[in-house]
Amino acid sequence: MLIVIDTWRADAFVNDLMPALTAYGEGGVVFRNAYSSGNWTLTGTTGILAGTVPSEHELLSQYPEVGEYGWLQDDILLLPDVLEYRSYQVSNNWIAACGGIAERFDVDLNPPPLGMTLEELVDEEVVSQTTPAIIADILGEDRVYFVHYQLLTPHFPYCIEGVDTVVNGFEMCVDTEPLSDEELAQLQADFQIAHAADPDSFLEGMRALYDEQVRQADEFVAGIVEQYRAADLRPLFVVTSDHGEAFLEHDNLFHGDDLHQEQVAVPLIMWGPGVPRAPAVETVVSTVDIFPTLLDFAETVWESDQLIGRSLRPLMHEDAETLSRAQYEYFAFDQETQQIALLSGITASVPIEEGTWTLMEERGDPVLGFEPKLFDQMADPGQVEDLAEDPYFSGVLDTLSELNVVLPHTEWEDRWYGL
Ligand SMILES: [Zn+2]
Repeated sequence: MLIVIDTWRADAFVNDLMPALTAYGEGGVVFRNAYSSGNWTLTGTTGILAGTVPSEHELLSQYPEVGEYGWLQDDILLLPDVLEYRSYQVSNNWIAACGGIAERFDVDLNPPPLGMTLEELVDEEVVSQTTPAIIADILGEDRVYFVHYQLLTPHFPYCIEGVDTVVNGFEMCVDTEPLSDEELAQLQADFQIAHAADPDSFLEGMRALYDEQVRQADEFVAGIVEQYRAADLRPLFVVTSDHGEAFLEHDNLFHGDDLHQEQVAVPLIMWGPGVPRAPAVETVVSTVDIFPTLLDFAETVWESDQLIGRSLRPLMHEDAETLSRAQYEYFAFDQETQQIALLSGITASVPIEEGTWTLMEERGDPVLGFEPKLFDQMADPGQVEDLAEDPYFSGVLDTLSELNVVLPHTEWEDRWYGL
């Protein structure tokens, strides 16, 4: 059972906001230093399902200029392709419709109910209306099952029923239908005015709305868990996110713009059969590790270069890896030059200069001229002080840069840089 809470920051997993998930985590394992492999929904979610980074799975349809990268290639297998399970997907309509993901699952059980189209439904309605049918199906099947839920709840525009979503005069909960250029320009102007009026209170108001959504996500997850429990089903639960959310920590708002912690660090919690009740794991792990971990639990072997992660099961018993790392990538697009560059980040614990470090750099031939950034995660978890230029840390920078190579596949470079 994989539950992806879309846009869930690592630091939003706290008892005040999420009492249910905190309790579930206490009965299993919480990974305190987990990172998504991407910084927006498509790359982050596909990273979980394919067990690899965006430049490898190549499902990157954000840019219309690269149309053929908008569909999952046949040689990329997803978790449901490898597990010989009945595989259900209950998802927000956007990710379900993307790039062939839904086609790898059995989605017959989540058609638009009550004559509504998927576009008219928010994901929570799909979840609540579909789960009983899935449970009935599971009870009638004699095969094991894999279910992927994706809640869109904390994702902007933070629409919350019964809550005032106006911040400094700006209505956060705007229509998400495609806007005309004029409407978009007006929206952006109103947003700037609302922010400029009082930046601190604006951010505070935004974060309060986000936190309220996180609180609701906790209730949704508890509702899902309870439904399976009531049916006497005891799945192995993996709950995580596809990316975080920025609140101007590094000049960006929302997500999909850079690789700082607030956009890529995510919660990761597992509990259920086979998962011990264990202390929190501090080792750096990645959401690409979920695929090999679930194969391990399913006692399924699949030898493939596609999987770049490792099973997390040993860490549930002994948090003792000396070298641990998580990589994440972002294809940045320069509007002026119409060029695309691969920015890559790595957070790793390395034996030299004991500690955990983060490096961000541009891979391949530099296109945007992005200067490397280096942060000491232990002393500076908020990534305020860039140490890349400090000669004292050049050894750390070189070590991380050497580790930050998992891309033997160069086809994307030829294709993307050739645009
Ligand atoms: Zn997302």
